[in-house]
Amino acid sequence: MNVRDSEHMIAELNQKESYELTDHLEEADLIIINTCSVREKPVAKLFSEIGVFNKHKKPGAKIGVAGCTASHLGKEIIKRAPSVDFVIGARNVSKISDVIDKKHAVEINTDYDESTYAFGEYRSNPFKAMVNISIGCDKSCTFCIVPATRGDEISIPSDLLVQEISKAVAGGAKEVMLLGQNVNNYGRRFGALEEKIDFTGLLQKISTIEGLERIRFTSPHPLHMDDAFLEEFASNPKICKQIHVPLQSGSTSLLKAMKRGYTKENFLNRCEKIRTLCPEATISTDIIVGFPGESEQDFEDTMDVLEKVRFEQLFSFKYSPRPHTEAAVFEKQIDSSIAGERLTKLQSRHTEILDEVMDAQKGKVHRVYFDELKPNGRVAGRSDDGKLIFVQGSEELLGKIADVRITKTSRGALDGEVV
Ligand code: SAH
Repeated sequence: MNVRDSEHMIAELNQKESYELTDHLEEADLIIINTCSVREKPVAKLFSEIGVFNKHKKPGAKIGVAGCTASHLGKEIIKRAPSVDFVIGARNVSKISDVIDKKHAVEINTDYDESTYAFGEYRSNPFKAMVNISIGCDKSCTFCIVPATRGDEISIPSDLLVQEISKAVAGGAKEVMLLGQNVNNYGRRFGALEEKIDFTGLLQKISTIEGLERIRFTSPHPLHMDDAFLEEFASNPKICKQIHVPLQSGSTSLLKAMKRGYTKENFLNRCEKIRTLCPEATISTDIIVGFPGESEQDFEDTMDVLEKVRFEQLFSFKYSPRPHTEAAVFEKQIDSSIAGERLTKLQSRHTEILDEVMDAQKGKVHRVYFDELKPNGRVAGRSDDGKLIFVQGSEELLGKIADVRITKTSRGALDGEVV
């Protein structure tokens, strides 16, 4: 979502203010640092980055801080780093033109509704379009700062989405990535406009766009994975067969303390349903270790889910206490070294699973959409099920979909040749 927010800022600054992107820091008149605040580390990094930019920027160049850390620290950022010219929150991206010339402007209202704002057009990759389908988050996961920084969840009207995607397709994109904190909660609430449509309905509607060949989305929430949605996922040929099912923990009691709304059994049931309806689908997940109160048994439950589902991709994190969250003040915070050991154990086992999955790819044929030129005459693309695949080739392949036979496998990516 941050990448897309950055694209929106670039488009606004280019089309309304005639700024252009530069690859050279010393040339920049305006530097914007778009931040995350989900864990503590990136917040600390922000202030060291500001120092680096101050050292190398040209005299008079402005520095702005955007994103979730901007939302949550607000004017505190300017207090700690007075060289920062403005602060603009993750929920206020459309206000970028208003703040760049106001010394020490702080625009961080999380009630602001920009769900129908028509942003300018800018896409860092013309072949793949990222499209926000909702803003904010309505969940109350006790570990997560996002609802406090991005505000309540509001869906973007489906007609606007169809217009935006059609425009991207006309510009050369065959693939769309639908973005939201809980994409499959789509349609629960709109801003001014009322509409009766859910995520399954949205997928069906978007599928009718001519020239659009691939639909991806992230992140769905396990709680909203009803059968109708999973059946649409499995049967709609335009939907890529890769699905993110964020687990967080395999322990039912921890899931309750996290306020995730599902149990270990519900989660496994949804994954089994995906495997039954769509055996070729790959499943990825997010896991937090060391959440307050996590016992050895709780952690073993997480390992058990990893063993049962064999996630192809795993994003795993050590729990990081965040301001504005309930869990930050829970008793029984877990010692960092214990959390670290658990993270290592989880990641090592996942690496073994991934090696087995990737080794088995040799000789297989995948349909690959090529979208990026790489050094040494290589072109990169993704298979329908989300694997990164390289072939030898030139820019002629860009924007094309072709069958590729896998010749070489490694943990992170596959090599192959067009057949
Ligand atoms: N709405 C998204 C979450 C976005 S944050 C979703 O449900 O998938 C991405 C991931 O960061 C989360 O899934 C979680 O695994 C991790 N995360 C969030 N808060 C965290 C915290 N306080 N400590 C460690 N990891 C956290």
